[in-house]
Amino acid sequence: MAKIKMTTPLVEMDGDEMTRILWKKIKEILILPFVDLHTEYYDLGLENRDRTDDTVTVESALAAKKYGVAVKCATITPNLQRMSEYKLKKMWKSPNGTIRRILDGTVFRAPILCKGIQSYVPNWKQPIVIARHAYGDVYSAVDATVGEGEKVYLVTEKEGRETGRTLIHDFTIGSGVVQGMHNLDSSIRSFAHSCFRYALDNGMPVIFATKDTISKVYDGRFKQIFAEVFGEYKNTFAEKNIEYLYTLIDDAVARVMRSQGGMLWVCKNYDGDVMSDMVATAYGSLGMMTSVLVSPDGKYEFEAAHGTVTRHYYKYRNGEETSTNSVATIFAWTGALKKRGELDGNAELVGFAEKLERATVTTVEGGEMTGDLIPLFSRKGITPRKCNTDAFLEAVAKRL
Ligand code: NAP
Ligand code: MG
Repeated sequence: MAKIKMTTPLVEMDGDEMTRILWKKIKEILILPFVDLHTEYYDLGLENRDRTDDTVTVESALAAKKYGVAVKCATITPNLQRMSEYKLKKMWKSPNGTIRRILDGTVFRAPILCKGIQSYVPNWKQPIVIARHAYGDVYSAVDATVGEGEKVYLVTEKEGRETGRTLIHDFTIGSGVVQGMHNLDSSIRSFAHSCFRYALDNGMPVIFATKDTISKVYDGRFKQIFAEVFGEYKNTFAEKNIEYLYTLIDDAVARVMRSQGGMLWVCKNYDGDVMSDMVATAYGSLGMMTSVLVSPDGKYEFEAAHGTVTRHYYKYRNGEETSTNSVATIFAWTGALKKRGELDGNAELVGFAEKLERATVTTVEGGEMTGDLIPLFSRKGITPRKCNTDAFLEAVAKRL
């Protein structure tokens, strides 16, 4: 067959350890035989980040900004142990953090569902996608201890002159603690745009919640900005019959638990931190969770939500057999190819990505899967077979 052509390059960000191994295999056996793959390649593997003083990460993010669609492999975020393991010049920052700052984006985490893999919440039949606001609040707060007899104020200044003063608390009856946190209107606005854009792209209803009955000014601002931004999307949501609900966080939790899933749950920073772990756990394995960074002006970076699966990589390096789940990394590729195809009006490319997704899901549904999924799988008449890393990819290729 003639290979599918691409008009615009895809930004490809390679990574580390076991996912770097998966990356190469996925390309070789699932994509390159069918697609005349046109990528602009950036090696974000830790060695190359160190060699280039991490400029490669910045360059890759700028390329994502330029071309609009990127696919990223998991990467090591160095810590002290990695410093000596890789003899690094510096403890380089998290590449994901760098890319997110440059694209000013929001991360959406979505589970991949397969028949036979039961959610721990049985009524969740469709994916719940979590959007977490990744700026401010308690994550960049300052706090302090306060002694008995001290008073603490919230003070604002402009050009050295005091412009406001509110008493937080008078600690007359004993010592305690205080905390000051902030957010930016611009960041909340970007977040709202990214969320509504994602919902339209995926035809998903949106639920957004804060605690504005208690936090009248702070959370009230989130509510107000979301209402303003939604004004720009209202008509398109109505045309596409997509709902947007603003409610209180307690009510949102209750609604989500009762639901069948199939929604975008938009969370403030702390809520998203907690709820994304709850939702991810409910759907099973980390190997089935995808993630996409969407910027407010519509640039996309697709990846798997898991890390570089270090423990498996060390086994692989010792020549031992591994059974690493490649589903989320395959879906990072299909997500990116599909988006590239949509933006370029390349229906063949979109069609290919959809077929690859279907081949992947039906491989699992048919009983061939990696070890992490075996204990989760139960389907009448099918005894699951544990595949090693390569055998799973080959099974997908065969179906494809
Ligand atoms: P991890 O790579 O996600 O792996 C944690 C454990 O989860 C694995 O040991 C494995 O459990 C299971 N797991 C995750 N993905 C799997 C898959 N595809 N197939 C099968 N099992 C899977 O997290 P980590 O070990 O905490 O971090 C390793 C490295 O990844 C770190 O250097 C970290 O900086 C980096 N990281 C990168 C990203 C990113 O680039 N987005 C995100 C998170 C972490 P078992 O060992 O029990 O089989
Ligand atoms: Mg968390």
